[in-house]
Amino acid sequence: MIIADYHVHSDFSSDSKAPMEQMIEQAIRLGLKKLCFTDHMDIDYPQVNDHNFIFDVDVYGKKLLELKEHYHKQIELLMGIELGLQPHLTTQLSSLVNQYPFDFIIGSSHVVDHVDPYYPQYWENRTKKEGIQLYFESIIENCKSFQGFHIYGHLDYIIRYVPGQSETKATYSYSDYAELLDEVLKTIISYGKGIEINTAGYKYGLGFAHPKPEVISRYKELGGELITIGSDAHKPEHLAYDFNLVPELLKGLGFRYYATFVQGKPIYEKL
Ligand SMILES: [Zn+2]
Ligand SMILES: [Zn+2]
Repeated sequence: MIIADYHVHSDFSSDSKAPMEQMIEQAIRLGLKKLCFTDHMDIDYPQVNDHNFIFDVDVYGKKLLELKEHYHKQIELLMGIELGLQPHLTTQLSSLVNQYPFDFIIGSSHVVDHVDPYYPQYWENRTKKEGIQLYFESIIENCKSFQGFHIYGHLDYIIRYVPGQSETKATYSYSDYAELLDEVLKTIISYGKGIEINTAGYKYGLGFAHPKPEVISRYKELGGELITIGSDAHKPEHLAYDFNLVPELLKGLGFRYYATFVQGKPIYEKL
């Protein structure tokens, strides 16, 4: 059994209404031993709706500390964050991660060329292939401009929002982007960072967790070892989503361990 969920949101994220306590109670019910909150911090997120994806880290840290103490006999709580990376944010992101004692930091591409691919606007002047390529290129660029994270989040998040996706379930194939994806994976590995298995892909009906198994397999071939597992839950009922599928998936690809993080250091857990 996977004993830790390392990608979890609460109402500190502007797209979640779930108080931390509700997420924790659910994690305990599910038998998790570790729960790492990774609320959204997307500095300079384009203003398109009410979401600004910014929260007060002082309040967050204080609340987590209280809850950590309160629940310490039932579950270990960790203070993480999901940073929305953009190449021009190096200074702000560096000062943020130096200011707070995060146990774990996810770096994610949510905004590419000033637009979240979630919005149709991203796809207006691009083909499907161009949109996907630009997304993968953003990962390389973001890694080069900022290294203050531990793992890169949901590597193929873009695929959720490709126009026409829901009708066709046409995902994408590693081979269509092989050279670029290899560069993405090699860049992540070369900086000593890892990737995550993000089971929200199952929730979105894609039929796989992010990233596609063939990409995870290539990561392993290229020497990648560091993997965390997260549901990306924004509600209690989505915690540890389809985690029962993960051990077989990862073992089938040759992995024996996944990682959890405490005080920024990986701890290897047996699959
Ligand atoms: Zn994300
Ligand atoms: Zn997330």
